[in-house]
Amino acid sequence: MGKQSATRRTVVTGGAGFLGSHLCEALLARGDEVVCLDNFLTGSPDNVDHLMANPSFRLVRTDVTDFVHVGGEVDLVLHFASPASPIDYLRMPVETLKVGSIGTLHALGLARDKGARFVLASTSEVYGDPEVHPQPESYWGNVNPVGPRGVYDEAKRFAEAMTLAYRQTHGVDTGILRIFNTFGPRMRPNDGRAIPNFIRQALRNEPLTVAGDGSQTRSICYVDDLVAGVLALADSAEPGPINLGNPHELSVLELAQWVIDLTGSSSTITFVDRPVDDPSVRRPDTTLARERLNWSPQVSIEDGLLRTIAWFRGHPELV
Ligand code: NAD
Ligand code: UDP
Repeated sequence: MGKQSATRRTVVTGGAGFLGSHLCEALLARGDEVVCLDNFLTGSPDNVDHLMANPSFRLVRTDVTDFVHVGGEVDLVLHFASPASPIDYLRMPVETLKVGSIGTLHALGLARDKGARFVLASTSEVYGDPEVHPQPESYWGNVNPVGPRGVYDEAKRFAEAMTLAYRQTHGVDTGILRIFNTFGPRMRPNDGRAIPNFIRQALRNEPLTVAGDGSQTRSICYVDDLVAGVLALADSAEPGPINLGNPHELSVLELAQWVIDLTGSSSTITFVDRPVDDPSVRRPDTTLARERLNWSPQVSIEDGLLRTIAWFRGHPELV
């Protein structure tokens, strides 16, 4: 049955997390109704507290690996539920595999049932420790399935395969995004990722913990840019996979130095052990995103870092 009203209804799994909460906010701002499904495993209702008074927003505590039920019509399912920080998925390997597999199956089932478009938040981690640089979508990756990061990487690779199977077998309108490192307000200060760690350490004037010699690289994208890219893919008919990320590549040591400079901190740098299977380089080839979605990041790394630092300063209780 076709949808009667003009208002779009979007389900965001993992909507109380870092990226999910920004997505909920952007969807509401453009007039969607939003149903946010989250079990608060790594997210928190605090992240969407400012949206609770909006009558178009609904937060439902649900573990998407148990079941996914949403009454009424749904036009779009954004499947973002999953631990995303290495310390989170190393602490919760089974939960991570279950949400990437069973959770994705349930979210795809919801999209199939409702005739909705489905968007999967996949990751640059599907490329593992890449032997091709920068990484185009055509690269198959270099992942160690039995290494510690395998639980996340393989869950996402499985989720991509499942998404494609639902498209081909059940005709679900699907899109796959491979998201590269993204940062901004509402990252958990203690989630172990480099940027929140460095900002928190700099604001406390403690040494910044750089892993290895800090020569490994990442390409970091400000959250507002990422959200614009997700919505562009959601509104298109593109199946993907499409990379979303800021191609500006920097070493982890440069990143640490940048955070010290921008916070005006007296912190020094200390070198700590590098995690097992830590990718040594990472940079998206964003040709497809530019050509198919007319998307490219607009916020400079410096601006993004300044905005993120300002948010952390505004939440001293978290630092
Ligand atoms: P996050 O941990 O802040 O958010 C994930 C959310 O999913 C949390 O609110 C968590 O409670 C929820 N969740 C986890 N398991 C669930 C389950 N079984 N049922 C319901 N909810 C569940 O992480 P994030 O950085 O916002 O990442 C969101 C998504 O984007 C993830 O799928 C992640 O793999 C993907 N991604 C993020 C990045 C990044 O740089 N942040 C990069 C690549 C991919
Ligand atoms: N890293 C670091 N110090 C920290 C946290 C992370 O040097 O306190 C390094 C980490 O080893 C990796 C890079 O920063 O090389 C990015 O790590 P993050 O956890 O942010 O993301 P991912 O490894 O998933 O890209």
